[in-house]
Amino acid sequence: MGSNARNLQAVLGAPGVRGRRVAALPKDGLTDFMQSIIMKRNESKEPFYVLDLGAVSGLMDKWSRTLPMVRPFYAVKCNPEPALLGSLAAMGANFDCASRAEIEAVLSLRVSPDRIVYANPCKQESHIKYAASVGVNLTTFDSKDELEKMRKWHPKCALLLRVKAPEDGGARCPLGPKYGALPEEVIPLLQAAQAARLSVVGASFHIGSGATHFSSYRGAIAEAKKVFETAVKMGMPRMTMLNIGGGFTAGSQFDEAATAIKSALQTYFPNEPGLTIISEPGRFFAESAFTLATNVIGRRVRGELREYWINDGIYGSMNCILYDHATVTCKPLACTSSRANPMCKGARVYNSTVFGPTCDALDTVMTGHLLPDLQVSDWLVFPNMGAYTAAAGSSFNGFKTAAILTYLAYSNP
Ligand code: PLP
Repeated sequence: MGSNARNLQAVLGAPGVRGRRVAALPKDGLTDFMQSIIMKRNESKEPFYVLDLGAVSGLMDKWSRTLPMVRPFYAVKCNPEPALLGSLAAMGANFDCASRAEIEAVLSLRVSPDRIVYANPCKQESHIKYAASVGVNLTTFDSKDELEKMRKWHPKCALLLRVKAPEDGGARCPLGPKYGALPEEVIPLLQAAQAARLSVVGASFHIGSGATHFSSYRGAIAEAKKVFETAVKMGMPRMTMLNIGGGFTAGSQFDEAATAIKSALQTYFPNEPGLTIISEPGRFFAESAFTLATNVIGRRVRGELREYWINDGIYGSMNCILYDHATVTCKPLACTSSRANPMCKGARVYNSTVFGPTCDALDTVMTGHLLPDLQVSDWLVFPNMGAYTAAAGSSFNGFKTAAILTYLAYSNP
């Protein structure tokens, strides 16, 4: 059986997917699928997502082929849709959780706790106690106060010392200003762990989410190696785990990142006996797998300018524009297929503004976008909407992001 057929079988039986309808899509079948959803929902004009589990399967294969020595722990924060978590688990991924609720979400899919890294360097006491009670025994830290909490509430937990990457990877969302021990803090932190009889099993870092300078992995891996060497000098047990964090984007950027990582591993960790290398990719698995369909609920014509209101926006899925510094794009549904309708081919386009549904003027999704003349009730489709979108949306003004339905499909790669 080929890996696609194997993945398909695993995905269809996965918790979070089992019991839900999964439409088999031919190549380029997404437009017809969205149209069939709209027809079935009859009068409902609520926005909806389509999650393409075939795309997730393709990404998993890509990961295994490109970075076979690095075990992915999917960062749940990026998008906690149960079907995404369940299918990743069924295809062998593990999980990075940052809170009690994220751990609960993963455990509810019957994933064993030893497949979770509690990768939040600053944890709430009650969440630590919960992790201890369910057997999540691997976490990160970067301060003495965190060590003290671990000593009190979860002393058997294995620890990864998170270091600050020397460069922030040209990231869309730099993480260095908030997390990671400085070079001069490494020895005092290891000493404090020793004194507290805690087990530091390795080092971790994150070069920033949406990274673009992949040479940053090299500097960060070098920094992690110094932690390993320092531990040996201090007479601590040999470290066995390197966590290279997230920051990956699918596409050619992933190949570039992988090349930089493999070269740095070759330099700093050649033939390291018993070393486990893990990572915490979020965006890589989630971004391209989700497509969002929104409905045009309002229109205003001002001369040559077209203004549209849609039923999702900055306080909902498009919060990624503010928080993830994302640029979103959209097309009318009728123009998303290769057999696009005549309204799209050669049609006149207008300078258009797209507003979200709330009463705040900040709720502006895009300006200066060229769109054909749309009418109220038309559908606008946003591709690549899986990363840091629904996960961080609110219920402001009564528009409930959490209520947006996700339909499942499996496209043939
Ligand atoms: N791990 C940690 C600790 C993070 O803070 C994040 C994102 O903020 C991730 C992993 C996921 O990063 P990405 O989506 O860039 O792969």
